[in-house]
Amino acid sequence: MNVYDAQRMTDTLAREGYVETDTPDDADLVILNTCHIREKAAEKVYSELGRLRKSQEEAGRKSMVAVTGCVAQAEGAEIIKRAKVVDLVIGPQSYHKLPELIASAEARRGLRDHGVVDTEFPVEDKFDFLAPPTRAAIAKRGPTAFVTVQEGCDKFCTFCVVPYTRGAEVSRPLAKIIDEVARLADGGVREVTLIGQNVNAYHGLDRTGRPVSLPGLIRAVAEVPGIARVRYTTSHPRDMDDELIAAHRDMPALMPYLHLPVQSGSNRLLALMNRKHDRELYFEIVERVRAARPDIAFSSDFIVGFPGETDEDFTETMDLVERVGFAGAFSFKYSPRPGTPAAGMDDQVPEAVKSERLTALQALLDAQKTAFDRACLAKSFEILIEKAGRYPGQLIGRTNYLQSVVVNGPREAIGTLANVVVNEVGTRNMTGDILDGEFFRDGAYSAGEAALSFQTGGFIGQSEKVEA
Ligand code: SAH
Ligand code: SF4
Repeated sequence: MNVYDAQRMTDTLAREGYVETDTPDDADLVILNTCHIREKAAEKVYSELGRLRKSQEEAGRKSMVAVTGCVAQAEGAEIIKRAKVVDLVIGPQSYHKLPELIASAEARRGLRDHGVVDTEFPVEDKFDFLAPPTRAAIAKRGPTAFVTVQEGCDKFCTFCVVPYTRGAEVSRPLAKIIDEVARLADGGVREVTLIGQNVNAYHGLDRTGRPVSLPGLIRAVAEVPGIARVRYTTSHPRDMDDELIAAHRDMPALMPYLHLPVQSGSNRLLALMNRKHDRELYFEIVERVRAARPDIAFSSDFIVGFPGETDEDFTETMDLVERVGFAGAFSFKYSPRPGTPAAGMDDQVPEAVKSERLTALQALLDAQKTAFDRACLAKSFEILIEKAGRYPGQLIGRTNYLQSVVVNGPREAIGTLANVVVNEVGTRNMTGDILDGEFFRDGAYSAGEAALSFQTGGFIGQSEKVEA
């Protein structure tokens, strides 16, 4: 979501005449868009601000510095107190006010109590005021795009700051989302990931004012001309209802890769975390989604070392992972967040134990991911070609399961779908040969023929391994 937010801020500032630069040293305005989900992420902000201060002092040039995102929301004016280099602190719900806030910060520059803070949850919808991307900006960002459809969370898991930093659940109206998707598609976007802190709790209004939930939204997005693939993230197991599961069966554009965070395999911990479901419900959902869409793969999020987690609890997590089998995962050590119930719980788990458990869990998850990727060898997949590879003549596409595949082909093929056969599986990406596709029409391209015809288009057709 921060990637999406940063793009919308960039679009809004582009209207004011700002352009992006590659290094902070060139910038008149530096925006640090921050995350507060774990302590490490929040601490990074201050070390980054320290670096910025130093480089600005060395250059003898003070540019405007804004801190946005959830650290801004959570810490507010404290940031300016702690890091004087900061001129502006803006919470996630006030991004549409950026131009006017920059102007007021500009006016206060040099004053003893410099700086402007806006961490309100305003009544107006920021999405009505944020500028849309230009066609050039869309093209530059490539054929995949995020679109926020829902923000905030009402679930209040005991470890999580999101309900405090992003606020209560709000869903954007369907028509506005579809307009945004149509604009993206017009600029060449083929794949849209619908995002929200709790995206499957989406409950927007359709064009006639009737409630519409995520499956209805996915259907409408998939119908936008040009859109070939739809994904959504992040989901809560509790909100995987029958209609959404059926959507995985009925909508071919909905990619068979579902990120479904579970956090823990222990029922005792799931209750302490206030996750509102047990492991049995998780297994049941996985089974039902698999029945609906047999080629589906799952990824998940895990927390180790939640307060009170015993060896037995952790064993239950390992057992859940073994039973489900994941194609990917994010796993974290529990990090106490200020103001959340779990931060005040007794029995905080020692750091060394957290590390030990994380290592064991990641070894298992990595092994599952490797096995999943290896099983793709010699099979064919549809990929969406997203960008040029590292070497001339290489392109990088993604499978249904978000695996990167390096193929040979001309840049003109970027943004098209192609069928490939995977001929090598590395740790970071796979390599493949194109069989046919939207750009490679009429099928029957053998790898050799494809290489030949591309060579006449002026590039080297020989496949090179990319281990980047
Ligand atoms: N809404 C999603 C999660 C959003 S936060 C859900 O319900 O699953 C993304 C991930 O960060 C979470 O799934 C969790 O694994 C991790 N996370 C959140 N708070 C954390 C904390 N205090 N310590 C460690 N990991 C945390
Ligand atoms: Fe945080 Fe997700 Fe729980 Fe909401 S559902 S409180 S975002 S972990």
